[in-house]
Amino acid sequence: MKIRSAEILISAVKPAQYPEDINQPEIAMAGRSNVGKSSTINMLLNRRKLARTSSSPGKTQTLNFYGINDEFRLVDLPGYGYAKVSKSAKATWGNMMETYLSGRENLVAVFLLVDIRHKPTAQDKQMYEWIKHFGFQGIVIATKSDKISRGQRQKHLSIIKKELEMEADDILIPVSAQNRDGKEHVWSLIEELFRV
Ligand code: GDP
Repeated sequence: MKIRSAEILISAVKPAQYPEDINQPEIAMAGRSNVGKSSTINMLLNRRKLARTSSSPGKTQTLNFYGINDEFRLVDLPGYGYAKVSKSAKATWGNMMETYLSGRENLVAVFLLVDIRHKPTAQDKQMYEWIKHFGFQGIVIATKSDKISRGQRQKHLSIIKKELEMEADDILIPVSAQNRDGKEHVWSLIEELFRV
């Protein structure tokens, strides 16, 4: 994928704020806070700081829409998993996610990001079930692949597959924002998703 332009369009909390043109397909990224979502988006777009990295626990939870080549969008969904989040903030997060995932016509796929080093959490499992429940293909990106050795990789990927109960047709791609491992693989998958 040749990235000619990439820009933040809007940080939205409700559908009225989503970009209006639904002729442009969207790919969304979900995952726990600190999993490496911003870094992965920056890596895919060849930008150092387009998506904010190392978000703080108190950060406002928004859906961040990035416009690419004026052709399609990547959507950074609000992270989950901070222990110290109030019940009402969790409910707001749930409503925001459900509204977007269930109602966005031009949403083509939702990638679940998990850290390759760690066993997926109960919330990761829920998120994965949710993604499938809304009718999307199971696609998982294992982040920070540079943090484990090549020899350990298959073992970690197998744990992720097993814990998330991934099926034969589901897709699991290891990536590293640090050394750009997996970048071409993710782009060829996105191009394939746009073709069908
Ligand atoms: P987000 O909260 O999911 O957006 O996560 P960030 O992108 O802010 O990343 C969280 C932390 O993990 C930051 O300190 C990043 O530098 C680090 N990080 C993200 N991706 C990678 C990666 O591929 N390799 C390594 N070594 N560190 C990463």
